[in-house]
Amino acid sequence: MQTEYIKITDPEAQKNDLARAAEIIRRGGLAVFPTETVYGLGGDATDASAAKKIYAAKGRPSDNPLIIHVANPEDAERYALPNDTYYRLAKAFMPGPLTVILPKRDNIPREVTGGLDTVAVRCPSHPVARALIALAGVPIAAPSANLSGKPSPTSASHVVEDLDGRVDMILDGGDCEIGLESTIVKLDGDKLTLLRPGGITYDALCMVCEQVTVADAVTRQLAADERPLSPGMKYRHYAPSAPLVLLSGPANRVLAFLQEQQQAVNCAILCYDEECAHLQKNNLFAVGARDDVATQAKRLFAALREADATDAEIIYAHLPPTDGLGLALYNRMIRAAAHTVKTID
Ligand code: AMP
Ligand code: MG
Repeated sequence: MQTEYIKITDPEAQKNDLARAAEIIRRGGLAVFPTETVYGLGGDATDASAAKKIYAAKGRPSDNPLIIHVANPEDAERYALPNDTYYRLAKAFMPGPLTVILPKRDNIPREVTGGLDTVAVRCPSHPVARALIALAGVPIAAPSANLSGKPSPTSASHVVEDLDGRVDMILDGGDCEIGLESTIVKLDGDKLTLLRPGGITYDALCMVCEQVTVADAVTRQLAADERPLSPGMKYRHYAPSAPLVLLSGPANRVLAFLQEQQQAVNCAILCYDEECAHLQKNNLFAVGARDDVATQAKRLFAALREADATDAEIIYAHLPPTDGLGLALYNRMIRAAAHTVKTID
């Protein structure tokens, strides 16, 4: 199919373009749109055949459920059964990068939820996403707009790379602000389980809910016979073609190790801005200042795509901290690295 590509710089002034994208979705087609987390591959969440098209376009296993996107937090009620805790979370964090798993209503087909009787609901804050959902008049089912197995797209160029010719329209809204997928939580009354860390941090959730448990799969590799709480966790999300090794240890020792490696092997490095001047430029990708986890999160997926496009035999990066937004970064990187960490002392 021919993919139409439209740049959206002013959602208010470009209502007509957004209305056309909404029309595509209402008619069962696929439109890619920007959100504050990553780009989403959108289709009508009430239409089983649109869900099938989404899985086909991504090459994604159809038991890995989709998140449905609503224009307003209270719209969740039309498609799911929210409780008080949902509304407390909504008040604190929506619109924003939080997805809540709720019991689903019958108007959301099981094709969307991977056969589950729960549905993941999110209300994004990006103005293009919000306008598109409102104009479509239906909830939009949208996984990240990458081919399955590639890093999530944080700019329209990543989407074009992966999905050109596989979707009806791509709306380019520039670079995504957060750069990592949404935080996902499951509710059990007022108890909350963090299934996937993201822009809404563990500490922020604890301010709203007394009991927050972090699912094992967030930080640890599950054994072959362990069943994850979220189907997506069993998939090795993204693996670069060269092995990714995460480095931990004192800053000067890690830098010295990287300098040695640049002499010894054909490696790509995701480094801190401060290290750039001390390393050779070839296959070097700066991800932000050492203490600036927000910028590192925003740049991670683009940097991984770039490193993957080199002929490097091995990719090195720093092991992130696990506090604050660091936990989300840690979770994505540790999975991309298949839990390979090298400690240097
Ligand atoms: P993505 O669409 O790529 O952001 O991935 C969506 C993630 O949400 C996947 O990892 C799913 O496993 C998770 N998810 C979606 N719906 C549910 C649900 N009903 N129960 C548990 N996890 C879900
Ligand atoms: Mg994804």
